[in-house]
Amino acid sequence: MTTGKKSVCAERIPMKEQDPKARVKNFNEVPLGYSESEAVLEARRCVQCKKPLCVKGCPVNVNIPEFVGLIANGKFVEAARRIKEDNALPAICGRVCPQETQCEEKCILGKKGSPLAVGNLERFAADFEMARGEFAAPGMRPKNGKKVGVVGSGPAGLTAAGELAKQGFDVTVFEAFHEPGGVLVYGIPEFRLPKEIVRKEINYLEKLGVHLERNFIVGRTATIDGLLNEEGFSAIFVGSGAGLPSFMRIPGENSIGVYSANEYLTRSNLMKAYKEDADTPIIRGRHVVTVGGGNVAMDSARTAARLGAETSSIVYRRTETEMPARSVEIHHAKEEGIIFRLLTNPVAILADAQGFVKAVRCIRMELGAPDDSGRRRPLPVEGSEFDIDCDVVIVAVGNNPHPLIRETAPDIAVSKHGTIVADEADGRTSKKFVYAGGDIVTGAATVILAMGAGKNAAKSIAEDLAK
Ligand code: FAD
Ligand code: SF4
Repeated sequence: MTTGKKSVCAERIPMKEQDPKARVKNFNEVPLGYSESEAVLEARRCVQCKKPLCVKGCPVNVNIPEFVGLIANGKFVEAARRIKEDNALPAICGRVCPQETQCEEKCILGKKGSPLAVGNLERFAADFEMARGEFAAPGMRPKNGKKVGVVGSGPAGLTAAGELAKQGFDVTVFEAFHEPGGVLVYGIPEFRLPKEIVRKEINYLEKLGVHLERNFIVGRTATIDGLLNEEGFSAIFVGSGAGLPSFMRIPGENSIGVYSANEYLTRSNLMKAYKEDADTPIIRGRHVVTVGGGNVAMDSARTAARLGAETSSIVYRRTETEMPARSVEIHHAKEEGIIFRLLTNPVAILADAQGFVKAVRCIRMELGAPDDSGRRRPLPVEGSEFDIDCDVVIVAVGNNPHPLIRETAPDIAVSKHGTIVADEADGRTSKKFVYAGGDIVTGAATVILAMGAGKNAAKSIAEDLAK
């Protein structure tokens, strides 16, 4: 196997991107992907460590040196299939995982130059295999005749479903929306994660035998007990996410033109409001203010810019250092002209006589001692209020689990935050044969953590149902 031992390149091969001025006028993906030669060059930087720290940094332990070595040798399809042994959704993870704080942060090359571009290589291999359109079934156990239900088709549910199908279970995923994918389809915008990619990854799971029930709300269409006791399901995995938006609870928040990021992004992504001929209305503000500092806020502000806003600003109460968004998303937002108003916090939303938003009243903040999260606590600077004129405000300050599951399955223990209490290692909840994982357990987190939880739960479901 060719390894990176001959490689002397300290810096990673950059991935070409759409020009910021052009891309802010369209919804096409921003990074354009590696060519074959770029991927091989980048892969050859890997020194194939005997004890690869990168693997320890990956929540699902993808065998990084092995798949990178395959790319270095031009074996692109084999590389994708190697990744899929540990990660069912590589084209998605290659695009949205926070690699800079996971595998790439641990990569030894980072000590003397830039770490290996693991995410870019993962994306390359997955896209290459997808473009070939060949379906290769992984090792599948024979059908065991047992039915398992999965609530929610986000990364947690999809991963659990794929793993269980491989184990021979008859798997049905119940999804409340008409389109499966969870946040991958309704939250993360097209310019970061093309929906065609999500659709293809889901098609792959369907080819493994996973059955999808769309427009099926567990808790309404059927309850968990109904599925277990009347519909013949032996176990249920709950991966229903944290789709209920938090608000700021400040005066004026119900004015016309105030959206939760959830609603704004769902209208744009899932209901395609960004298309000129779409039926779904969305207020295309001239001056849009997004409140928050995470990926959701970056996605909202960048979407507003693409929908034609003259100014799209982020208002965040701490500094850039404390922003939870991925650094690459902050970088892309800045390149696209998003204005960052840091150490600033809204105190009221001002509306005109007809109830339409006309400004956000903010107060300047300063940082005090660290709080429970370890980040320095923002404190208001007395008498520093000022107004930002705007016609749309997007609130991206967090999400919580929807109460429907806990209300209709009260024997599943929940935390004071409304998340389901489940064992991190095996997904078991307080209710026998009910498992949970992803944002419904952790609160809003990441795609790869949700996938890891789905994988762990699938393993314990298989163990428990074999007893
Ligand atoms: P979800 O993806 O929320 O999926 C849950 C699914 O369950 C949904 O489809 C929902 O409709 C369905 N559902 C809920 N209740 C029911 C019910 N009662 N019956 C049937 N179906 C139900 N993470 C990253 O790693 N990188 C990023 O760049 C990133 N960017 C993000 C950007 C945005 C705008 C958002 C909102 C999140 C982002 N995240 C990112 C976080 C990440 O998407 C989530 O952590 C992840 O999707 C959680 O997966 P999940 O499967 O637990 O839940
Ligand atoms: Fe390759 Fe970096 Fe992993 Fe070492 S730590 S195997 S160089 S990706």
